[in-house]
Amino acid sequence: ALSPDHPLLRGLNPEQLAAVTLPPRHALVLAGAGSGKTRVLTTRIAWLLATGQVGPGGVLAVTFTNKAAREMLTRLTAMLPLNVRGMWIGTFHGLCHRLLRAHHASAGLPATFQILDTQDQLSAVKRLLKAAGVDEERLASKELQAFINHAKEDGLRPHDLVPRDPHTRLKIELYQRYEEQCQREGVVDFGELMLRSYELLRDHRPLREHYQRRFRHILIDEFQDTNRLQYAWLKLLAGEVEDGRFLPCGNAVMAVGDDDQSIYAFRGARVGNMADFVREFGIEAPIKLEQNYRSVGHVLRAANHLIEHNRQRLGKRLRTERGDGEPLRVVELASDFEEAQWVVEEIRQLLRDGVPAHEIAVLYRSNAQSRALEGALFQAGVPYRVWGGLRFFERAEVKHALAYLRLLDNPRDDTSFLRVVNFPPRGIGARTVEQLQQAAREAGCALADAVTLVGGRGGAALTAFVAQLDVMRERGAGLALADLVRTVLDDSGLLAHYRGERDGAERIENLEELVAAAHAFVQQEGFGRDAPGAAPVADADGETTSPLAAFLTHAALESGDHQAQAGQEAVQLMTVHAAKGLEFDAVFITGLEEGLFPHENSLTAHDGLEEERRLMYVAITRARQRLYLTWAQTRMFHGSTRYHIPSRFLDELPADSLQWLSPPRGRGWGAPQPAWGRSALGQDDVRPAGLAGLPPAAAAAPQAPVSAAGAAIRTGMAVFHPKFGEGQVLAVEGRGADARAHVHFRRHGPKWLALAVARLTPVE
Ligand code: ATP
Ligand code: MG
Repeated sequence: ALSPDHPLLRGLNPEQLAAVTLPPRHALVLAGAGSGKTRVLTTRIAWLLATGQVGPGGVLAVTFTNKAAREMLTRLTAMLPLNVRGMWIGTFHGLCHRLLRAHHASAGLPATFQILDTQDQLSAVKRLLKAAGVDEERLASKELQAFINHAKEDGLRPHDLVPRDPHTRLKIELYQRYEEQCQREGVVDFGELMLRSYELLRDHRPLREHYQRRFRHILIDEFQDTNRLQYAWLKLLAGEVEDGRFLPCGNAVMAVGDDDQSIYAFRGARVGNMADFVREFGIEAPIKLEQNYRSVGHVLRAANHLIEHNRQRLGKRLRTERGDGEPLRVVELASDFEEAQWVVEEIRQLLRDGVPAHEIAVLYRSNAQSRALEGALFQAGVPYRVWGGLRFFERAEVKHALAYLRLLDNPRDDTSFLRVVNFPPRGIGARTVEQLQQAAREAGCALADAVTLVGGRGGAALTAFVAQLDVMRERGAGLALADLVRTVLDDSGLLAHYRGERDGAERIENLEELVAAAHAFVQQEGFGRDAPGAAPVADADGETTSPLAAFLTHAALESGDHQAQAGQEAVQLMTVHAAKGLEFDAVFITGLEEGLFPHENSLTAHDGLEEERRLMYVAITRARQRLYLTWAQTRMFHGSTRYHIPSRFLDELPADSLQWLSPPRGRGWGAPQPAWGRSALGQDDVRPAGLAGLPPAAAAAPQAPVSAAGAAIRTGMAVFHPKFGEGQVLAVEGRGADARAHVHFRRHGPKWLALAVARLTPVE
């Protein structure tokens, strides 16, 4: 055994230490945000490996995002000299995918099966509705998509569903046809990954027993957000159900979670899994962690105070030893535009104060809010990175290229076929495509196999298209992945097409980026420099996949990690949902308006408001030191202006932890106009001209430090000092009584001045 002062265990508090070194048995760690749950989980894996209780192959760890999985692997690699590559650490989707790849035949899937992302799924559903002659009026494609996904999240196949009315009967029937279509085309959607691997384990006893014996330790983070099917999946790996009773099979499951952070009910997450887990796995007492290591006192107090407005809670409190820190800054702005300007201004101040860009996060409730923020950041030249939203792999041109690649891997992938059969345009009209679909339906085969059944010029064009794919496949056979991608970009005509487009430059850049991504992927995944793109390579478990297949999977499961240039310092933009589990020095929560946060849709849903409040709790607890809350009186929404009142959540925070900054048209805001852009010194802080015609003063930060003469002083301003004369402000640092300005005076050169005493006034 390791002593408690072994480097691995050093610094853990007694409760954490107990959890990390627990003997092999089932356990639930139930604790609030920032109390070290994820740290306990990672350290436990390291401890289990270091003490030789289990080998890397005997651990199964489930994280919530791919990013979290990577971080866990990185931390483990840092802690241990072991080769932890090939360990089963990943998201539910990632792990299920791995299982299905390894046992595709038992799962009834072709070796080349592809993943259908949410967009592709919707187009597949649309295609299905069309073929069935059901128009959107009668059944919206999104409704059917949601119906199918919810059924799968609950582990239900069409034959498990009972039609209570004709409309439901129709949906069930179409669910059935959707499944047949996916099966024929060799594609699986996200829900199917989970359900299919659940069924694989359930229906193949030897296989199940193999994995039950193999995974001695199963660890799962963010347990509060598992759905019914995911919990059932875990149970299959952890024991046998006999006569309705769950009999554990000797391995140890550690689940960690926080009921106050359950924010995925809309996707089927079920907090009730915690209670079931306690009962079915015979947990005597959940382990509690009450010390918060992340946030300063004001932030933590705000979070505790807010969440106490929820009634459905298991109840727990958090304390911190980090001191109070600064109160939360709350700002009211006139519009979403001004909100974005204010946030960016404040970010620039943080950056000047030395906060690293990646330690600053701007959070919002809805993806659509990122646009204004991105605009302002871009204008100000502040590098940023958006997580979620339209990800790199979801951009149209990238999806076109991926569709070609997928067709090389799996010619039966009809969704990909339809995406590119006439893109770039090759004279194959909608009528021809319909004929082809008809023929394929009748022959019960893939579109690619039905091209010869279509006559006339259209048929000839289709046959030529399939022949073109065959040639590409052959040409690509011996190539490294990146070269294969480049060949496809050339041979498909995609590059030539975008070169001929007026706005094609950015698209071409993205396609070039895809080649780079393929190259980077091969390096990272250790496929070896020279491995041909399509040749299978065995991984640590002896499973084989071609680099191309692995890359396509990566593209389908990836969450936007390639979007900004890697390694570049950037401010992080994301939805609150995407921020779960993460932490930052400074956090902005924007759009705190009734109807937006809490979201208007939540107000009608059962438990909706409480879920929004948990979401707000997640948002607040991301901050280590500084937290900013902003709201705007008006916001552009679908092209029209909407008027808002502040979010009720602002009223639910403790008043003495809040500092309200001056309102947009009040003090400080109407400060004399600074001389932006009139810099004779050419320093970098001059505000770009022409911010949508807004007078610069109105766009600047309202709480800029004030000089002894009562004027707000900002970087870039031309100023006058009674003794030193005229000059230009190079920088402003600090706040309140400590604020000082670095001013370059025309006659006296650069000087630092304490604003509390310097009588600086702006020069018109
Ligand atoms: P969340 O609920 O938000 O996922 P969590 O409970 O998983 O939070 P962690 O992310 O594991 O919390 O930990 C929060 C922060 O506290 C991390 O930076 C972590 O490294 C740090 N931390 C955890 N335990 C300790 C400790 N004993 N000493 C010092 N720092 C710690
Ligand atoms: Mg965590």
